[in-house]
Amino acid sequence: MPGKKSFWYQELSWPEIVEKTKECDIILLPIGSIEQHGPHCPVGVDSLNVQKIAERVAERTGVLIAPPIWYGAHMYMQYGFPGTIPIRSDILKQFVKDVVTGLVKNGFKKIIILNGHGQQWVFIGALHELALETKAFIAIATWWEIARKTIEEVAQTKFVHADEVETSVALELYPELVDMSKADKESAPSIVDKKWYGSPTRTLPDEGGFPHHNITASYFQVDVYKLGILGDATLATKEKGKKIVDAVVDKLCEFIEELKRKYPPGVSPLEMPPPGVKA
Ligand SMILES: [Zn+2]
Repeated sequence: MPGKKSFWYQELSWPEIVEKTKECDIILLPIGSIEQHGPHCPVGVDSLNVQKIAERVAERTGVLIAPPIWYGAHMYMQYGFPGTIPIRSDILKQFVKDVVTGLVKNGFKKIIILNGHGQQWVFIGALHELALETKAFIAIATWWEIARKTIEEVAQTKFVHADEVETSVALELYPELVDMSKADKESAPSIVDKKWYGSPTRTLPDEGGFPHHNITASYFQVDVYKLGILGDATLATKEKGKKIVDAVVDKLCEFIEELKRKYPPGVSPLEMPPPGVKA
């Protein structure tokens, strides 16, 4: 179909991609996971969330979306639950590095990894190595970090997994795949008091503890949860999800517009003289 307008890289021809990089060299790379999300949500939640959010951002800003990565790396306690397919973190890191390097070689000098799963530690290592190797501008946008304030205002419970927050977002983005008649709530003991460690939206604990991902304070989920709902999914609504998704999309669009305003296509900010510094 000539003149087709898709935001997805994989649906374009190579001349269309070359043309696109001349007007905008910012691209979104959605990365999620295949993981159990309770009996009420599909195992692709983390991937579907970022793919659908990316489409809304692309519609508003005109950026392209790279072919998504469906699988993710997992924290130790998520291993063993039915439905989950973990990728080893070193494999995912190298895979993401190859994908980003390929995008940079194709002219995309500004890459936003849109992350839908608690695997930021994998991408942080990749980002710093890629900055040295490719000079590309890279950002890791994890949706619940981008919209932390809104999530805390909208939700009655703290965001963890397949719970009020994540189910609300799923209800906003693909309600046809969510079965609220199977939504439930669960909780589990932890190895040390919860005050000692952070959470997805509050990476740092309030005072004197261990940042999220920095401590093995959780038991294996398969041993302490029956359903795999880490919180209360019965509180989820589409209205709450819309507020959260809107906040994520708004923030990402604002970020992209700043990049567009400050840096022309075809060049990474790391390849330009810093403002106020003589070339
Ligand atoms: Zn999830």
